[in-house]
Amino acid sequence: MATRPHRTEAPPTAGLPPRWGDLWPTAPRRGRLERQAAAFVGVDDVQAECSGTAALVVALTAMHRLSGRRVVVVPAYTCPLVAIAVAHCGLELRLCDLAPGSIDFDAQALARACDRDVLAVLPTHLAGRVADVATAVALARAVGAFVIEDAAQAFGARRERRSVGLDGDAGFFSLAVGKGLTTYEGGLLVSADASLRRELWRTSREIVPWRLDWELRRSLELLGYHACYRPSLLRLAYGAPLRRALRRGDPVAAVGDDFPMRIPLHTLGRWRRNVGARAFARLAAFVADCTLRARRRRERLAAIAGVEVLGDPGGAEGTWPFLLLQLADEATRDAILARLWGEGSGVSRLFIHALPDYPYLRGVVAAADVPNARRFAATTLTISNSPWLDDADFESICTVIGQELLAARAPTP
Ligand SMILES: *Cc1c(COP(=O)(O)O)cnc(C)c1O
Repeated sequence: MATRPHRTEAPPTAGLPPRWGDLWPTAPRRGRLERQAAAFVGVDDVQAECSGTAALVVALTAMHRLSGRRVVVVPAYTCPLVAIAVAHCGLELRLCDLAPGSIDFDAQALARACDRDVLAVLPTHLAGRVADVATAVALARAVGAFVIEDAAQAFGARRERRSVGLDGDAGFFSLAVGKGLTTYEGGLLVSADASLRRELWRTSREIVPWRLDWELRRSLELLGYHACYRPSLLRLAYGAPLRRALRRGDPVAAVGDDFPMRIPLHTLGRWRRNVGARAFARLAAFVADCTLRARRRRERLAAIAGVEVLGDPGGAEGTWPFLLLQLADEATRDAILARLWGEGSGVSRLFIHALPDYPYLRGVVAAADVPNARRFAATTLTISNSPWLDDADFESICTVIGQELLAARAPTP
């Protein structure tokens, strides 16, 4: 039994809805993007780059110049762009498995992965959840390695009211489409350490050129996004290609995990920064609204036996681009997705595979035994926390999940 096809399309994540007024060419009175972002994060300075990946490339390059080391330790389940960034820098990737059912590193595996060759460790605030940075900092410090917090999906996440991204040596946020506030592509690099911050600036000035061709392309893409990011047009712009990818059995394309292997490096142009700066006026209220909706919907989901919604440790409040659900096994997860993915109601998956399992990444990711990361990839799904997914649609999603969990428990004849 299929659910009713939706007239409109919910986006898979809660992007901050754009407004035409954001496109006004001058900087807003509230200040430049970097100044507003610095105030939001609670630092003196943030560095704008052309993507979260570019911010990571700048950080890795600067750190490699400082220490000469080459190994970068990343979670075995994360965005493929992280592995591509490490390869771009000519550095060596070392995967660390997750703790069971968690976005955090397995602490024992991380201790084994940390030696004197390690340049940096990347605890990752996946899905907006607040990750354990303290363990990574302790293990990295002991071997003289840096810590870079990957907060690409967690702009606005806080622990004890302090922004994520500041407990390691550096941190970065993504301003890509679908991650909240957007300049179509963009990234913010932060560091609480003033001398490292100077190195990050210096490195950026050296390796990141102004590129008219890329800026024109991204500016057009940003305009297209403003035109299409509305429930009526997302069916065409997002839903149609998604359903085509699902029909041909290509989940990697369906979630957009098929990234190009080359990372463009160029400055983030002034007009796009101003667009971001104008949208900033709505960001804090939007994050608060998403948090309230997520809280209500997590309570609703908690009433269904057999679903776990990933949350945050005590004292922490992450951001909620979507709810990340973990099911008991892959078959149950897939039975739910068979009915809901591609139906337009914002049910989707995060990254499809653990990093060693993407055929297109074979050249940059070595085979690895990472059972917890694989299990995480196989048993999780996401429900959009977009304000456009209304309570009735959310309730239909809960009904389907409840039915499939019942069916999974029923004895098979
Ligand atoms: C999206 C993402 C990145 C890369 O950010 P971009 O701005 O898309 O380059 C890095 N890490 C994680 C966990 C991400 O989700």
